[in-house]
Amino acid sequence: MHADRGSSEIDSCRAALRRWESEQGRERTLDVRWLMTASGPPQEYVRLTEADQQIVDCRPVPAGERSAVAPLILMPQLVNCHTHLEFSGLRTPLHPRDSFSGWIGSVLKHRGSEDRVASAEILAGLAECERNGLQCVGEILTDTDPAAYPQSDTLTKVLFQEAIGLTSERMEQQFRMVEQRVRQIRGMQRDDLHAAVSPHAPYTVHPQLLQQLADLCVREQLPVAMHLAETRAELQLLEQGTGELAEMLQRMGLFSGQTFPGGRELCSLLEVIAAAPRSLVIHGNYLSSRELDYLQQNPQMSVVYCPRTHAWFRHTEYPLQQMLSQGIRVVIGTDSRASTPDLNLLLELAEVLRRYAWLKIETAVGMVTNSAAAAIGPAMAVSQLWTGEVASGILLKAASDSDLRELFARREFEVLARLQAGVIRSEGMFGSGYEGPFRGSSCQSTEATEERK
Ligand SMILES: [Zn+2]
Repeated sequence: MHADRGSSEIDSCRAALRRWESEQGRERTLDVRWLMTASGPPQEYVRLTEADQQIVDCRPVPAGERSAVAPLILMPQLVNCHTHLEFSGLRTPLHPRDSFSGWIGSVLKHRGSEDRVASAEILAGLAECERNGLQCVGEILTDTDPAAYPQSDTLTKVLFQEAIGLTSERMEQQFRMVEQRVRQIRGMQRDDLHAAVSPHAPYTVHPQLLQQLADLCVREQLPVAMHLAETRAELQLLEQGTGELAEMLQRMGLFSGQTFPGGRELCSLLEVIAAAPRSLVIHGNYLSSRELDYLQQNPQMSVVYCPRTHAWFRHTEYPLQQMLSQGIRVVIGTDSRASTPDLNLLLELAEVLRRYAWLKIETAVGMVTNSAAAAIGPAMAVSQLWTGEVASGILLKAASDSDLRELFARREFEVLARLQAGVIRSEGMFGSGYEGPFRGSSCQSTEATEERK
């Protein structure tokens, strides 16, 4: 794209946002090139009118005024149902991609490296979430103290406390730890922090521990998330008690023929976690038709599809069309930087739009907004930016005027700011050359603060 055009586009976006802010306290309007929501097809040239933080009118920009509309895209704030922020310091995904047990070895090695500070990686990950317009993140919590997650009025964290345990001693310790963590998070009484539970995966969690955790979720009304049907190796371990994961557990001295005798069915695991008020099936790359039927009958359960992670491991075609046709709630997550290049949920959305030409844009938007909010549990409204709703969303700059689907597939956009109950917030959001529209930019001062440290 021509540099001059890029800078005039950013100027017109900035001018539109500045005008909006200067009219605070009065009824004011914002013209956007595109309005993208989960409720219907994207609309071009929309004028939103706001008063007292509410959208009071939403109508097309008159034809004669359209050439002056800034290339802004307005869409609801985002919900990322699944990530592990403790790996946010990684610059590139971990290898090998072709051996899952080998990749787990690399993850464990990274986690154990001496120069690594998990809480620093988490902070970097949270900043990335804020910068990319997230309203809520489903985070897998391991050893880090929940108090290390700074309070925020823009980003809600659902902390899924992870449990891993195959031996009876470890199972007992892990269950007590999860109970204690849930009490701690609830005791903090923070609106931006919610407790949840994550039995890690079938190959790391004993069926008895899984049952105890599911019972806890029922008793305490907590959402649950579990990595399930992620690899063929996992299915082989359950069905036959063999394969690369069995060998990995043997090497670690954790394999037991009693725990993995073969003949175990994935569906029986789904039945256990189905008891929780909200269940997230993380990945579900290899769910069979029987398991999909079970999910169809259990609307409290959702599947979290992580598109770029799926691509990283070169799994077989994702059963997205089948899941959606059965009415199963599928949402999009990033997973961690150990298997995806960054935590930008919009790039996951872009990947899905690029890969599935049949997928409606509004369906895909729902998978990172409304559906995702419904999947993850805590009462959370995602504004659909219609008349009568709160004026909250994210503002992107479109870097081209091609068709919206193409623009996403070609990643020709960047997040500029958050619209939070009518207020433009641009802290931490500065794409190429963008310094935030107002008051000398709070992002610059954040950067300066970091430099001083
Ligand atoms: Zn994961």
